[in-house]
Amino acid sequence: MATDVLEVIRTKRDGGVLSDEQVRFFIEGYTDGSIADEQAAALLMAIVFRGLDPRELATWTAAMIESGTRLDLSGVGKPTVDKHSTGGVGDKVSLILAPLVAACGAAVPQLSGRGLGHTGGTLDKLEAIPGWRATLSTAEVLHILSTSGAVICAASDDLAPADRKLYALRDVTGTVEAIPLIASSIMSKKIAEGTESLVLDVTVGSGAFLPSLDQARLLAETMVGIGADHGVRTVAVLTDMDAPLGRACGNALEVTESIEVLQGGGPDDVREVTLALAREMVALAGLAVDPAEVLASGAAMEAFDVMIRAQDGDPEAPLPQAEFVRTVPSPAAGFIRRLDAKAVGVAAWRLGAGRARKEDPVSAAAGIVCLAKPGDRVEVGQPLLELHTDDDGRLDAAVAALAEAIELGPEPAEPRPLVIERIG
Ligand code: URA
Repeated sequence: MATDVLEVIRTKRDGGVLSDEQVRFFIEGYTDGSIADEQAAALLMAIVFRGLDPRELATWTAAMIESGTRLDLSGVGKPTVDKHSTGGVGDKVSLILAPLVAACGAAVPQLSGRGLGHTGGTLDKLEAIPGWRATLSTAEVLHILSTSGAVICAASDDLAPADRKLYALRDVTGTVEAIPLIASSIMSKKIAEGTESLVLDVTVGSGAFLPSLDQARLLAETMVGIGADHGVRTVAVLTDMDAPLGRACGNALEVTESIEVLQGGGPDDVREVTLALAREMVALAGLAVDPAEVLASGAAMEAFDVMIRAQDGDPEAPLPQAEFVRTVPSPAAGFIRRLDAKAVGVAAWRLGAGRARKEDPVSAAAGIVCLAKPGDRVEVGQPLLELHTDDDGRLDAAVAALAEAIELGPEPAEPRPLVIERIG
């Protein structure tokens, strides 16, 4: 090829525009190992500072998709629609949404990764259910989609392998937080997964990947544009993630709370966000059904049972429980004005609910239950948070992460809207 990697790095470093040939040369060369990690890291850092223009981003994303195989879901016999969230604390929406939208008549092919850092991973949550299996063959995925309709499973190694390598490198080189890199990473996997339409839940606030509204909006617009370029009908919904979603943060704790919502109870905020996303998914799938009615009918709960059993899980088996539970009392009386999602996420992670490196194990039982949420009035000494762990040596570090997490005041703060904006 008439290009070389140093020229690619220097072009971007100096603010130039990469040709299609240069972008493809880089993605192919890094995936096949002919471009070294340090060279790729240099280019990624240059992109953090210089960005990618729309044409570079389109070619970059297409090359990432073409680095592996694109799943063909055309034989599923139902409209396919997926959801992706940019991450949050207590975000168990997928566990409710996938069976709910399947019960509405669509097929939901949710191929996921594992959690890293303070936001939990959907696969880790479902693995708290005894027997549940995250790894499925393509034939199994297709069979479940065409029968019961909802699959949440691990993406195969052949789904956008360029992203797998690039994401691991970004994670250790401080190059995750760049909108074109995040957008191409997420969308290459979702497009390769073969879904016809996609709803993006782009979170905003302290527990989100990009806390500011402006940045989240730009990310959402960029991803919606990539979806359109690749023939995937895409809508983004910006949702608040300044406080944890619901009360439970941690794998088994979140499964329990998801089942409460599927049974018609559970926290209002979880139900509101889930139904807002479900309405968008059902509309994109062209179905004339009201997800709220389907949820109230119990059909989504039945679809959850079927989804879990299809992957060898036992939805009736008791979930793991933590050996040690400690409560954090309120230091004063007043209204909770803020409960910082990031701090709660970090504390849950320190209790064992999340992992620092992708090969680390997670504890199914560890996590936090928020006994009070923003807007609630509390008394001095009243338990505010319940910390769950299998290892009591982790409790002090978790409590330390929560030092600034709760803001109290004589008046409640203005409630923040949960569903902020729709783009698409
Ligand atoms: N999630 C992804 O899959 N990729 C990113 O770059 C960030 C979040």
